[in-house]
Amino acid sequence: MGSTAEKVDNTLSPHGGTLVERVAGPEEARVTAGLKAIPVRGQIATECLSLAYGFFSPLEGFMTEADVDGVAKDMRLASGYVWSVPILFDLSAEQVNDLGIKEGETLLLTYQDQPLAAFEVEDIYAYDKEFLAAQIYGTTDEAHPGVQRTYRYQDRFLGGKITLVSPPRLQAPFDRFFFTPRQMRERFAENGWERVVAYQSRNVPHVGHEWLMKSAWFAAGADAVLVSAVIGEKKVGDSIDEAVILGQSMLQEAGYFLPEVHMTSILLWDMRYAGPREAVFHALVRKNLGCTHHMFGRDHAGVGKYYDPYAAHRIFEEIPDIGIKPVLTLEWFYCPRCGPGYEKLCGHQDQKDPISGTWIRSLIADGVQPDQQKFRTEVFDTMLEAGRLYGDGSPFVSEAYLANRNPVFIVPPV
Ligand SMILES: [Zn+2]
Repeated sequence: MGSTAEKVDNTLSPHGGTLVERVAGPEEARVTAGLKAIPVRGQIATECLSLAYGFFSPLEGFMTEADVDGVAKDMRLASGYVWSVPILFDLSAEQVNDLGIKEGETLLLTYQDQPLAAFEVEDIYAYDKEFLAAQIYGTTDEAHPGVQRTYRYQDRFLGGKITLVSPPRLQAPFDRFFFTPRQMRERFAENGWERVVAYQSRNVPHVGHEWLMKSAWFAAGADAVLVSAVIGEKKVGDSIDEAVILGQSMLQEAGYFLPEVHMTSILLWDMRYAGPREAVFHALVRKNLGCTHHMFGRDHAGVGKYYDPYAAHRIFEEIPDIGIKPVLTLEWFYCPRCGPGYEKLCGHQDQKDPISGTWIRSLIADGVQPDQQKFRTEVFDTMLEAGRLYGDGSPFVSEAYLANRNPVFIVPPV
């Protein structure tokens, strides 16, 4: 891999130099009649969308063995571009056999009983899942959610290009926050934004989060902050996606950010909790959206105690320049003397009052409004409202929410 990797310019924006867009026109879509139809689960359907709209440029489809192997061992695609997290399509050997799927064949992937994407199968292979988990997550512990996901894959992988044949429809409240990379780039251009710092989120923002964004805006000398909220698979106890996106948006609606310097958007992605490797992935996707900077705080994309809290800061020193600048921040907390307090900044570190999920839950349980300096009233009310509308009464994910949640997108009937 070494020689290819050195010749490749990883700084080009979009990643690889060209924004991938693989959406069929009506003519091409008709050609899918007669193809073998394979129903896919939500995980795969979501990735078909992201691939087809170019969120994952330069990937044009699910990874071949050469790509997975390069990513696992070297954090490089076979082409030499930096890539850190595998994007895989799995089937059982039995299904491959029973359906008689061959390399060179085009399949029709269906979702919600509708045609979704054409899949040109280039490669059918097996891959050592334990090795893959160890390389990507730095552990083979099954308690790690990313490792679990890896082990749940079936025993064959199919690599090849994806073409969307039926563009899905995003559902409320997500629809007004979904922008393809092309649409996002157009918005940036209309607003005259040349320097945009991305802020990755999977939380309803408290004031500490707000200051992470504000400080990243200062540090990057940015025209604007792009909130890119990860919408996807959730664990019990997480904030529900609807509360996250509406709470983030409320920061602007209530005036904590002007629309001239702030935009809220979603990224359809199931968190892998791959720590530093996921930080690199997040940077590449936001680069594809047109961002020039990406903020990384404490324990980015981490889970449990698998990663050092600042491992995601150091990884950018170990890879080539990927053309989006990491903005590395420490933690903001509530300081009873200063208001917003920053690690290593003020002299009251001993009075540090971290704003925790446990604290927010206790407020909700007791029906108490939070201190405005710790959690904005408007955001708090929005979070509760989202819980009533979408979360079975609670803004936190429950088993009932997981079983009954509204789909984020639907594939309209042809
Ligand atoms: Zn202080």
